[in-house]
Amino acid sequence: MNFSENSSDPSLDSNIFFIIIPPMDLNDLKTKLRQMAFSKGAGVFGVCRIDDLRETFHPEIKKISEKLKTAISIGVPLASPVLRTLVDRPNMIYKAHYRQVNAILDDTSFAIASEIERNGQKAMPLPASMVLKRFPMVGHLSHRVIAHEAGLGWWGRNNLLVSKDYGSQVRLVTILTNAQFETDMPIEEDCGDCFACLSACPVNAISENKEEFNLKACSEQVQKFAQENNYGMYICGLCLKPCRGKIY
Ligand code: SF4
Ligand code: SF4
Repeated sequence: MNFSENSSDPSLDSNIFFIIIPPMDLNDLKTKLRQMAFSKGAGVFGVCRIDDLRETFHPEIKKISEKLKTAISIGVPLASPVLRTLVDRPNMIYKAHYRQVNAILDDTSFAIASEIERNGQKAMPLPASMVLKRFPMVGHLSHRVIAHEAGLGWWGRNNLLVSKDYGSQVRLVTILTNAQFETDMPIEEDCGDCFACLSACPVNAISENKEEFNLKACSEQVQKFAQENNYGMYICGLCLKPCRGKIY
């Protein structure tokens, strides 16, 4: 169609054509975002509502989140050969990989948020790993809680998300948006007969009953690792190593 033929707008008479791309249907957009995330290295993707979670958000984002309705949760799997190098403490290759995966998560969440905005909606990418307060660790929100609600996995005995395909060997990021995507259902599963991570923890923070996870002991040990090895990062990784989901 030649727009200039049917328009009285003089700006359209100069052989300059404007092609207006309508926003995608939300289901199509969700499919596209999932494909984008997977092409960047993600292995799990889901969506949940945030109305019931907003109270847990950090004050920096709580107010603005009132205008946002859903959260997209994305998980990028860690490389199992890197985890296999862990013996009784974190090491430099694990630290490097941890940072590498965080960078992928931040890049992915930025790209996803940009695509949502290109489609006429609002989106806020949260940082994959930003500690606002230590002991207990506080971020803008809990990526684990969002991931659980978005159906990426269940809450494991090691106090981490456990996905069916990757166990706890997955790092997470969240994008908040006002786009009311169709949500995913939380997974109704648990660790069952697996107790593989209990003996991996150097301070016995993990119990058969997941409600008895010893967060204080875990936090103190992670702090000790950071100081002993001068990593400058609060990492451990020992209870991820044996947690490989439903493939064992
Ligand atoms: S992160 Fe380390 S200290 Fe904490 S529960 Fe896992 S193995 Fe134990
Ligand atoms: S290793 Fe087994 S018990 Fe521990 S969190 Fe993973 S699935 Fe649960």
